[in-house]
Amino acid sequence: MISRLLAILLAVAAGWGSAFAGAQGGSVDLAVKATEWKASFAFDPVTGTGHVLRGQDLVRFRVGTGALMMGNGALVASDAPEWTGSSVKVSPAVVEAIQAWFDTIDEERASRFSVAAILIDPGHGGRDPGAIGEHGSGGARLRIAEKDIVLSVATDLYARLKARWPDKTIMITRAGDSYPSLDERVAMANQVDLALNQAIIYISIHANASFNKKASGYEVWYLNPEYRRTVVDQKKAGDVDEDVLPILNAMLEEEYTTESVFLAKSILEGLGLAVGTDTASRGMRAEEWFVVRNAKMPSVLVELGFVTNEKEARLLADPGYLRKLADGIYNGITSFVDYFETRKGP
Ligand SMILES: [Zn+2]
Repeated sequence: MISRLLAILLAVAAGWGSAFAGAQGGSVDLAVKATEWKASFAFDPVTGTGHVLRGQDLVRFRVGTGALMMGNGALVASDAPEWTGSSVKVSPAVVEAIQAWFDTIDEERASRFSVAAILIDPGHGGRDPGAIGEHGSGGARLRIAEKDIVLSVATDLYARLKARWPDKTIMITRAGDSYPSLDERVAMANQVDLALNQAIIYISIHANASFNKKASGYEVWYLNPEYRRTVVDQKKAGDVDEDVLPILNAMLEEEYTTESVFLAKSILEGLGLAVGTDTASRGMRAEEWFVVRNAKMPSVLVELGFVTNEKEARLLADPGYLRKLADGIYNGITSFVDYFETRKGP
């Protein structure tokens, strides 16, 4: 109660103070003040109108009018600027009003979520082929390795993301048939310097294998607090890509986020639109939704399909189909990023 009363008294005092200062000639040359704000200043003595422009932040005024127009038209009542014949003078209250508006904009900008970097991680590589699919015989014989499929999709995706966002850091953990260790892959993500509310997203790309030759379809994994348990359960069920486990555990070192869920959902939708009825969606893997405020790295893992299913293996051996998969993931990432960059961060 006391502090509230005090705040009111202070506000009244501040109001009187600025009016008093103005009357006492405490006025400020707006052009000089604009320089301090690193803003440009313009004034037309004929119309009596002018503006202060800081980046995209525009404040318009008219001499003799007790209001400022902020941005696209929000009017803020203040003291009227004066034209002395050589400069535009304003009261400290006007300076305060402009400063307050700039501060509000800066705060809002700083709190906006932005994806500054995207790391694409094609699994396996080099001496580690990942899952192998061998089907048919004679002329119809097919042998495909996970490391090649995921590299093809990841390389395509990487190039398209780079073209779409030249200002973002787009990275790929391997550009050829090499084998970066898990630590090296994770280190790439951690190397990126991020400002507050900037995020890096991590997309790991794999292909699946199962003893059940009928198993087919793509799926997208995201992280949640129950992940370790879920993974263990899945492993017991015998239907999880074993090489995924250490990656998931490494991802757990980072704070997960609801963003991972949205990203996974977005990629799954993108894949659905891109591949249509060519194969089935196995959906998102992980059930629980938790909101975590200070997540650093939304991370998902995409399983493109099963190399152990003959029909799907033949699709995965087709460059046209791999392009569709890359399309789907690309569209999922872009709609995720576009959506989140218009929203406020934590
Ligand atoms: Zn794999």
